[in-house]
Amino acid sequence: MAAIPFIDVVAFNNEPTLRTIFHSLVHVTQFSVVGLETVMEGYFRALNESGLWMVVPFEEQAYQLDGRYTRNAADVFSVEDEVREWHRSGRFIKEEKNTGLCNRGLKQAKTEYTNCTLQSKAAPLDGTFPP
Ligand SMILES: [Zn+2]
Repeated sequence: MAAIPFIDVVAFNNEPTLRTIFHSLVHVTQFSVVGLETVMEGYFRALNESGLWMVVPFEEQAYQLDGRYTRNAADVFSVEDEVREWHRSGRFIKEEKNTGLCNRGLKQAKTEYTNCTLQSKAAPLDGTFPP
């Protein structure tokens, strides 16, 4: 890994090439347009299912666009428009296959957290909890 984006800041482990900078800025644009939570959820779901980061749609797009950028500098295009089009057409998240599973998992985790938090607040301080 040559770089890692953190919302609107990118950390590089070496002096970055223009391609690496461009690639990272595609991810920053994805965060901005699609939303951090949606990107992270989709990214790790796809990574978990495939085991391969290079087939994660967010990476697929970043590599396509950084390749386009480095192949022909005269080819001017809008990364934001490209990200919006992928997002609009559902290319980042495969709805049928993934959303149910993820939402169920996320909802369950939130419910468990909420229940745990509520139980903790409701627990008496005399050591009788749990019953
Ligand atoms: Zn990337």
